[in-house]
Amino acid sequence: MSRDPNCIFCKIVAGEIPSTRVLETDRAVVILDINPVVKGHVLIIPRDHYPQLRDLPDELAAHAGSLLPRLARAVVSAVRAEGSNVIINSGGVAGQTIDHCHWHVIPRFDGDPVHWPWPHQAYSGDEMARTASRITDLLDPA
Ligand code: 5GP
Ligand code: ZN
Repeated sequence: MSRDPNCIFCKIVAGEIPSTRVLETDRAVVILDINPVVKGHVLIIPRDHYPQLRDLPDELAAHAGSLLPRLARAVVSAVRAEGSNVIINSGGVAGQTIDHCHWHVIPRFDGDPVHWPWPHQAYSGDEMARTASRITDLLDPA
């Protein structure tokens, strides 16, 4: 089991910092976010410490992903929401503040305080095709 002794989420997983848990599996714990974006906001935290999404083993990502539909149903029903957002902030530039990769599941209401959708850009010329082929070329083999 990989662990970072200075990581808040490793301490939460180990029970060294208290948390309000809603689900535990052999590979992840799901807790209420202490400062929710919308009340009912939960965090899926893998038990093992991986700093960013890019570091996660596929199987662990698949396990956490497999919890999402069940969690979304329960979170939305529990707070009588109308929808939900699922997000991973990966890297400080993307808003990650705790460097132990985790999923946010955020219930959403009409008129809640979240500013969404985010702004969109446009591609020009063959930029879209070139960007796609760069990504495809850089994918690790499956
Ligand atoms: P990030 O910004 O890294 O994507 O998300 C970190 C999240 O962890 C934030 O939404 C923050 O409110 C939550 N958080 C930070 N410290 C604690 C804590 O000690 N307990 C719980 N339950 N959530 C925390
Ligand atoms: Zn950690």
